[in-house]
Amino acid sequence: MARTADAVIIGAGVMGSSVAYNLLNDGFRGKLLVLEKDPVHERSSTGLSAGGIRQQFGFAGNIRFSRYSVAFFERFGELMEVDGERPEIDLRQRGYLILATPEGMDALRRRYELQRSLGVEVSLLRPEEAREIVPHLSLEGIAGATYCPRDGYLDPYAVMSGYEKKARSLGAEYLVAEVVEVLREAGRVTGVVTAAGERIATGLVVNAAGPWAGEVGRMAGVEVPVEPVRRHVYTCRIPQGVGYELPMVVDPSGVYVRSETGGRILTGRADPDEPVGFNFAADRSYFMEQIWPVLAERIPLFDNLGLDRFWAGLYEVSPDHNAIIGEHPELEGLYLICGFSGHGMMQAPAAGKALAELILEGRFEEVDAGPFAPDRFARGAAIHEETVI
Ligand SMILES: Cc1cc2nc3c(=O)[nH]c(=O)nc-3n(C[C@H](O)[C@H](O)[C@H](O)COP(=O)(O)OP(=O)(O)OC[C@H]3O[C@@H](n4cnc5c(N)ncnc54)[C@H](O)[C@@H]3O)c2cc1C
Repeated sequence: MARTADAVIIGAGVMGSSVAYNLLNDGFRGKLLVLEKDPVHERSSTGLSAGGIRQQFGFAGNIRFSRYSVAFFERFGELMEVDGERPEIDLRQRGYLILATPEGMDALRRRYELQRSLGVEVSLLRPEEAREIVPHLSLEGIAGATYCPRDGYLDPYAVMSGYEKKARSLGAEYLVAEVVEVLREAGRVTGVVTAAGERIATGLVVNAAGPWAGEVGRMAGVEVPVEPVRRHVYTCRIPQGVGYELPMVVDPSGVYVRSETGGRILTGRADPDEPVGFNFAADRSYFMEQIWPVLAERIPLFDNLGLDRFWAGLYEVSPDHNAIIGEHPELEGLYLICGFSGHGMMQAPAAGKALAELILEGRFEEVDAGPFAPDRFARGAAIHEETVI
């Protein structure tokens, strides 16, 4: 074999670079290669993300992950400083405002209690109190809301680049290369092969391939249950302006909207009928038919808007729509960090830290990713999370 490495990370999206940073920052001293097939990240989920960060989940493991990550994002510039330069991730802690119908109130209250018990600064609001936060809000059909002011949104590309720059400064080597085969012998990983035909010998491979994680699993001869599903994001101009910065408002229909730079808004909704596939074609009619009517009802000011830019990226979807973190049960040396659906951006700091701990110490210490273990589906321990947006 021409080249050897102590660890190879497949994928330089936010997860791959978070793992690289955390491994090196926590004491990994071997040769660490990060292989990326699309160095401008044209199709990576990270670059196409809406950048929302929230702690308002219904599953304790997700709440704990987000609490770790929000605290990390608050110090991101300082933690990722290289040669006196700090990345600017444009963290806007304007909050998430989650609205509920009368039928949704029991579940909202249950999640609120759980979030409070885990230390989240979330409030349960009456409809009129929700309108104090968003004065243009229509309260039609709304019985209550929760609001956490430390939630918000950020620039996903800047987070990914910040991690990469720091990981490089700590010794990670990034190569433009597509992995086409994962080599194995006697139930252990032994290396990878790139599209250029190069073989790299290694006993440790991290599958951080996002929506391609299932494909990488197949290259290794094992099942990684992650499928790509198209999701849209739309930005719009508001001719009269909004006059204040919107939090991330989540309508009971699943339509979300927040302020975007340049006085615009950013909106989207996960289509429950979207089929699995690598489809990046952005669909204007989905906005016109499924999103705008809901948006204009919830915030009547948006009856008049101009569609600006729109794009489609891929969620990486596991059977329970939650992360898969840990060593593959059937292949020693293959570690997974994938399957994050619409909450990977906000979980990247915690997920990367947890996987680094597992690799270095053989157990979780600061961040417990135990509930996200790859074998949970076989054990009948799938996660139930009500708020996958
Ligand atoms: C439209 C949209 C909106 C979203 N909104 C949010 C949000 O508001 N909040 C939030 O928290 N999350 C959001 N997400 C989810 C979040 O963006 C992802 O979970 C996260 O970015 C995943 O990061 P990743 O590094 O795992 O994947 P990616 O960013 O896709 O990185 C994987 C990388 O692996 C590379 N790769 C794949 N196969 C190979 C191979 N064989 N060889 C070499 N390289 C390979 C790819 O080129 C890619 O760059 C959104 C996602 C989308 C698509």
